[in-house]
Amino acid sequence: AVPGGSSNLKQVKLDRESELRIEVSDEPLRLRVVNGTAEIFGAELPPEIWRTFPPRLKFAVFTWYGATIEMDGVTETDYTADETPMVSYVNVHAILDARRRFAKASTSNDSESPQGPRVIVVGPTDSGKSTLTKMLISWAAKQGWKPTFVDLDVGQGSITIPGSIAATPIEMPLDPVEGFPLDMALVYYYGHTTPANNVELYKTMVKELAQVLERQFLGNPESRAAGMVINTMGWIDGIGYELLLHAIETFNASVVLVLGQEKLFSMLKDVLKSKSNVDVVKLHKSGGVVARNRDYRKVARSSRIQEYFYGLSKELSPYANTSSFSDVQVFRIGGGPQAPRSALPIGSDPVSNPLRVTPVNIEERDLLHSILAVSYAEEPDQIVSSNVSGFVYVTEVDVLRKKITYLAPSPGALPSKILVAGSLTWLESH
Ligand code: ADP
Repeated sequence: AVPGGSSNLKQVKLDRESELRIEVSDEPLRLRVVNGTAEIFGAELPPEIWRTFPPRLKFAVFTWYGATIEMDGVTETDYTADETPMVSYVNVHAILDARRRFAKASTSNDSESPQGPRVIVVGPTDSGKSTLTKMLISWAAKQGWKPTFVDLDVGQGSITIPGSIAATPIEMPLDPVEGFPLDMALVYYYGHTTPANNVELYKTMVKELAQVLERQFLGNPESRAAGMVINTMGWIDGIGYELLLHAIETFNASVVLVLGQEKLFSMLKDVLKSKSNVDVVKLHKSGGVVARNRDYRKVARSSRIQEYFYGLSKELSPYANTSSFSDVQVFRIGGGPQAPRSALPIGSDPVSNPLRVTPVNIEERDLLHSILAVSYAEEPDQIVSSNVSGFVYVTEVDVLRKKITYLAPSPGALPSKILVAGSLTWLESH
C-alpha cells in the first residue's frame, strides 16, 4: 500500500496451470494482466487493460502458460492455487469440439444427420455448474462456434432475472463481468425461485423451450452443429432428481457432466446405461468453488433483479410508467381450486390445476413490489406456452384512482397488455 494514498496495488505472479482465486470485498476491485495470458472462466483477458469487478463477486483468474496479474483494491480474500480441475475440463471441451466438427462436416438438410453435442451440467448446489457451463461456452465461442446456452436454474437466473428459464445463442466468449447477453434470449417466466412451487408448470415450460430450440436447430445448421450447453439447478434429490431426468430427456442430451457427486453420477449412469447415445461423465469439483448460504443466494437474486432494471453498476435508469387497471391484464398460472366446492359434483374434491391461467384482480391482490412478466401471448390461454419480452416491477397500486405504476427497462408502451405474476417480489434498496 502507498502510505497516505488510496491506491492498493498488488502484483501476483502465476505459474502455468494455476489460478488466482478472488472474493471481491464490499468495494469494487480493479484488475489487469500485465504479463502473459490469463482467462476468467474461459474468457481471455485482454493484456494491460484494467477491468473493474463488482463487490462480492467470486472468481478465478487462470493461466495456462503463466501470467502476472495486478490488482488495485482490497479483496475479501485472494490466494493462488495450483491444483485445479481445469485440464480435465478442457479435455471435455476438446471432445465436444471434435463432435461439433464431425456434425458440421456431415451437415445436410436431413434431420437425421449428426448433431452437435447437447451437454447438460448437473450436480449439487455450489459444485461449480454455472462456472463450468461458462467455460465450455466461452471456449467453444473462442473457436468460432455459436453454441446455445440454456439456463434451467430458476433459483439464480444467469441470463435474466430469477424465476425464468431461458436460452440464448452465444457468439463471443462471455464477458467476465457482464456474463451472458440478454438481447437475443428466449425467456419463459415460471414465476417462482424453486420448481417445487409448481412442478408441472416447470416441466411444461422446459418442454416449450426445448421444442422451440428444436425447431430453430432444424433451420440453422450452424447452431445445430454447435449444440447446446445446459445449466441446471442444484436440487438433485427426489423431485429434483426426476426433473433432471426430465431435462435430460426433453433436450435429448448427449453428454451429462456430473460435478462433485459420486452418488448422482452412479444413479444417472445406471438409469442411462441403456441409451448408447448418452455419455455420463464424472468431473471433479474445483476447490475454488465458494459455498454460498441461503442469505447470500437471496442477496444474489435481489441483485440480479436490480441489475435487470438498473444495469450492473447502476448505469441505467428504468422508466416509470402508470397505467389504468383497465389497460393491463394480469394473470397467474396454477394454484387455487378450479371451481368452488359448491359447483362440483358431491364427493369430488376441488383439485387445483397447475397449468390453469386465472385473471388477477388488481384491486384485491397485493401486487405491490411484484415482478410481472410481459407476455407475448395474444390470448390468456396462450400464456403457458408463450415466451416473454421482459419484466416490469410494480412500485405503486392506487386502488382509488385505479392506476398501477411500474418500472420498465425501456420507455413507451408495453409490447403487450398481458402480464404474468408469480411469487417473485423485490424490495428496491435505494
Ligand atoms: P453452482 O452453479 O454449482 O451453484 P457456481 O458455478 O455458481 O456453482 O460456483 C459457486 C461460486 O463459486 C460462484 O460465485 C463462482 O463464481 C465461484 N467459483 C467457482 N469456481 C471458482 C474458482 N475456481 N475460484 C474462485 N471462485 C470460484
